[in-house]
Amino acid sequence: MKMQSLQLLLSALLLLVVSPSPSTIIVKGDNTALLVIDVQECFMDFTGTGDPGSLAVSDTSAIIPIINKIRKDAGCVFDTVVRSQDLHPDHHISFASTFGLEPFAHLSGNKGGLPLTCFSADSGLAEGSACCPTYYVNRDRVDCDTQLCPSPENISDDAKMSIFNSTACEKCKESPGECFDTTQAMWTDHCLRSGDSGFPVGLDTKPTDVVVQKGGNVHVDSYSAFLDNTKRLKTSLDDTLTELSVGTIYMVGIATDYCVYFSALDALSLGYEVYVVTDAMRGISESGVAAALADMEEQGATLITSDEMFAKGCPRTSTTQKSTKQNRKTKSSKKVRKQGK
Ligand SMILES: [Zn+2]
Repeated sequence: MKMQSLQLLLSALLLLVVSPSPSTIIVKGDNTALLVIDVQECFMDFTGTGDPGSLAVSDTSAIIPIINKIRKDAGCVFDTVVRSQDLHPDHHISFASTFGLEPFAHLSGNKGGLPLTCFSADSGLAEGSACCPTYYVNRDRVDCDTQLCPSPENISDDAKMSIFNSTACEKCKESPGECFDTTQAMWTDHCLRSGDSGFPVGLDTKPTDVVVQKGGNVHVDSYSAFLDNTKRLKTSLDDTLTELSVGTIYMVGIATDYCVYFSALDALSLGYEVYVVTDAMRGISESGVAAALADMEEQGATLITSDEMFAKGCPRTSTTQKSTKQNRKTKSSKKVRKQGK
């Protein structure tokens, strides 16, 4: 009897020791979201007018009927649909033209992206962060022979005003210890608020869809729909999904090797269960897509095709639908995921 009590006590103590503290555990909701990443005119190979979008990604028109079919034939899988929207102001930090450079300069000359020095705002929100080209923060820290530098003689006056309007240019000069380094790829001017940032006409949408905008901060880019590129500040997406009790995400969209990739990794680290629908997305380079898919899977995402989703089928009657949904919820409610997975 005494031995049993001792065993019980030891078991209780062991449970206390091995149980993660409440702050390290995230219990995600039971609901499921379809996350449609950046399916916008600007990334389309052919827009409604027949012209390519401002940052056209090859073969993107082909995914629209697939995404529509997912919504139509596998709609019972989702409780909510969220569409992210890349939406930039003029002279955005991701535009090569802002710095007098050629688009895709990060891919030529083996110099990589433009070195930036950034700080994160105390607010924790993406709008508060800022970056400045390291070239303008501390010229000595950049070697323009081996690193990408702005081309000052080619920068317009308006762009100059925008660049130096970044609080990071002064703040990181005065307090370098509060700042950190990153790099920025140099794209075409794309997805402007005043341009082709809207959703393609052929993409089925509903008034109940949630739209999460990103890239609105002129001084910081945001590939991931969850975090800006400083990787320290959140967009509204995680809070929105939490409010909607979402714990599982099916991802589709553009580009597999950039915005989908970074969104998937952030979703995993935030504790979501992630399914990547491989035929409902397109990427910028073949090798980039292969590497991104492999890494997403490695990090814990499940790669599936839309046919595999359709094969599961949606029940025809509401009674069956309810019971299937209940089964799924019962299964998913058991999930407890650790932060920082
Ligand atoms: Zn963008």
